[in-house]
Amino acid sequence: MFETCEICGAHEWKQAYNGTIRDGTFGSIRENAIVAKCSGCGAERLGEEWCLPESHYETGEYRTKLRQELNASSYFQGHDNLQIFALQTLPLPAMRGKNVADVGCAGGSFLDHVRGLANRIIAIEPFSEYHESLTSRGYEVYPFADKAASQNIGTIDFATSFQVIEHTDNPRQFLADIRPMLKPDGLLYLSTPNRNDVLMSLLPDDYPSFFYRVVHRWYFNADSLAQCARLAGYEVVDTHFVHRYSMGNAMRWLRDCRPTGNSAMNGLDHGTDMYWKGYLEKSGTSDCLFMALRPKPCL
Ligand SMILES: [Zn+2]
Repeated sequence: MFETCEICGAHEWKQAYNGTIRDGTFGSIRENAIVAKCSGCGAERLGEEWCLPESHYETGEYRTKLRQELNASSYFQGHDNLQIFALQTLPLPAMRGKNVADVGCAGGSFLDHVRGLANRIIAIEPFSEYHESLTSRGYEVYPFADKAASQNIGTIDFATSFQVIEHTDNPRQFLADIRPMLKPDGLLYLSTPNRNDVLMSLLPDDYPSFFYRVVHRWYFNADSLAQCARLAGYEVVDTHFVHRYSMGNAMRWLRDCRPTGNSAMNGLDHGTDMYWKGYLEKSGTSDCLFMALRPKPCL
């Protein structure tokens, strides 16, 4: 079931999880799935027989699985408010007048938030349903990074890819495909769910069946993501841990064993949320992981 690691080439895997995983939204499940940890790079991988094939991202199948409507306007309703977390980690003043490419941009919510700063913007998205809307907003659209890179070699100052690498067949190749479009001093900003999410240790019997999911083939912590990036020809410039959920969210997970979002909870206020968020981000146990990468010069 687990053969050669696509990232590092190691052959040995150790089982990290065996049980129910999420298949779309909460409540939809697949049973008896296996997640294993690579002995070489430390990344965790879902067994291929439980994974959504990568080709499904070119059709509506992935979005249907997440019960999203197949048009860009409904996409915005769910994604615009998430951009604050990406924007907080980026050097926005340095992006003025620069060339930006977002890889796996979906409907382009992030790009809409930086279009006033950037010079050229390249939107890379396999799902063609979004292309007309992206083009109409002035973005240069490509389905895949290798195609975009071949026509824009060494021209991009800031590439971004948020919550995409965990879906791919081969994360190392995914990063390597982006690299040629970057200028020598260009940066790639990545984000992915953090395998060291505090709820994985607080709720070891209930949270993994939510954390592991059919649509995510790969699960990284900061060390394994950095290793993948180095193997793909980058050096790590910066790592940020970002927590997107309130303390009440964690409290309700402990009480109810289900996701409840960021709604208010009696007895907790904004101050407790900020303390909770600060603690998790300092200890590396936030729900989300951001990394800034620069191409290594000597490849
Ligand atoms: Zn590996």
